Amino acid sequence: MRKPFIAANWKMNKTVSETQEFISKFIPAVKDLRNVDIAIAPPFTSLIVAAENLKNTDILLSAQDVFYEEKGAYTGEISPLMLIDIGCKYVIIGHSERRQYFKETDDIVNKKIKAAKKAGIGIIFCIGETLEERESGKTFDVLQVEIEKGLSGIDDSGTIIAYEPIWAIGTGKTAATEQAQEAHSYIRERLRILFSEKADEMRIIYGGSVTPENIDALMACKDVDGALVGGASLKVESFTKIVKFGKE
Ligand code: PEP
Repeated sequence: MRKPFIAANWKMNKTVSETQEFISKFIPAVKDLRNVDIAIAPPFTSLIVAAENLKNTDILLSAQDVFYEEKGAYTGEISPLMLIDIGCKYVIIGHSERRQYFKETDDIVNKKIKAAKKAGIGIIFCIGETLEERESGKTFDVLQVEIEKGLSGIDDSGTIIAYEPIWAIGTGKTAATEQAQEAHSYIRERLRILFSEKADEMRIIYGGSVTPENIDALMACKDVDGALVGGASLKVESFTKIVKFGKE
């Protein structure tokens, strides 16, 4: 019922020519795949060339961040309209690296989500707890606050939620399937409070050291509807294996 959604988050990796090289190999590798939505989020500098190279394919282009104003004196920032203008279909908002290194608060994340919604771009909204929060039993409290604040004032259910336990990002530590399922099921419960039965159509994807080796087990969890993949999305071979989960 919920079509899997798997996105590559390249973070601050790949030049324009590396982007072109990846896409030229990736398109033929996944051309017959119909049962999964695939998105690629290259750095801003590669978006235009990625948009050109992905034309006439079903692979969706995503940005890694966006600012909440439409235009104006905001040096260094990119607006939702600019992303739409070049063919972006999605944008990642609230990634823990943005929260940690660039001090993005729940309030800023909420403004970005509202601005992206208004412009009509799809959202991959990241939430997740630190190791300390998990070990002190606060995981659900953290998720509840991030969901409530991040989605405050949002009345449609089109957003994709990425559950990314911060302790699992880039660390090689993946959440056990039980931990992932438990968190995803809790997130869906909270979404039901906001969006009633529409929450059952919302995709909740998992992020945190996803690899070709662990994707099958994660995708077998009832409430895991896809993945946000960092490190393992940088190589065509490993990302192809991930989007072809359950096949080999
Ligand atoms: C991410 O940053 O979204 C991520 C999940 O990274 P990694 O797969 O490298 O842990």
